Amino acid sequence: MRIVLVGPPGAGKGTQAQFIASHLSIPKISTGDIFRANVSGGTELGRKAKQYMDRGDLVPDEVTIAMVRDRLAEKDAREGFLLDGFPRNVPQAETLKKILAEWDQRLDLVLELVVDEDEVVRRLSGRRTCGQCGKIWHVDFDDKQDDICDDCGGALFQRDDDKEEVVRHRLEVYQEQTAPLVSFYADEEILRGIDATGPVEEVTERALAVVR
Ligand code: ADP
Ligand code: ADP
Ligand code: ADP
Repeated sequence: MRIVLVGPPGAGKGTQAQFIASHLSIPKISTGDIFRANVSGGTELGRKAKQYMDRGDLVPDEVTIAMVRDRLAEKDAREGFLLDGFPRNVPQAETLKKILAEWDQRLDLVLELVVDEDEVVRRLSGRRTCGQCGKIWHVDFDDKQDDICDDCGGALFQRDDDKEEVVRHRLEVYQEQTAPLVSFYADEEILRGIDATGPVEEVTERALAVVR
């Protein structure tokens, strides 16, 4: 299956992506994770992306699309994939459609995680990520008393772009540039929305009910 996850920052895309991808045995391709790995690795790509990420703006399409094309061309993505964080605007969606068409492929499903803005702000303000295994935690909802990953013992960190001013800007960018994808994919008749509030496991159940 070829799936795209959409939803505002903090909707739970990264959290759900790991469960859905492992359930379907397809690779999870998270553009945010790839950019962050390149920033911390000090690569040329990371250097290009960092200034945009720090402000909460989208990295330019030419940079992002080249990266995604390379990743989709890898062998493990040939039979299916779960994209988390891409596409993020209509030009990216149109280019993705063309790339897949060159390979006689198309998306099967776009899953929209629906959450209101107050909940998104609560989720982002307490988000912590494991620097070692990448697992996503929340200080309140996971009752984290320390900054240690319960899965692997790695140290948790707060993303720079989860600071309040940057969060506000990312939500504006979402409304202006990413939200139009919902009607784009509704027109293509592959959009399915699910309620992404409530416990993580319940959201996963709703997601799996749609992808099965
Ligand atoms: P979140 O899951 O909180 O919405 P991501 O981890 O997906 O955030 O993205 C973090 C940042 O990486 C974005 O604010 C943006 O700067 C950059 N980014 C990620 N995906 C894309 C994309 N498809 N196009 C442009 N920039 C992107
Ligand atoms: P293989 O060795 O498996 O035949 P190649 O690298 O020779 O794969 O590529 C075969 C063709 O498939 C090329 O034209 C390539 O552009 C195209 N291709 C690349 N990525 C993908 C993909 N994700 N899915 C399908 N075809 C792809
Ligand atoms: P996104 O990738 O869409 O930006 P994340 O998956 O990183 O979102 O989740 C944002 C924050 O919300 C994280 O701290 C995560 O632990 C938390 N979170 C995710 N899903 C839920 C949920 N169903 N209920 C409560 N908190 C959640």
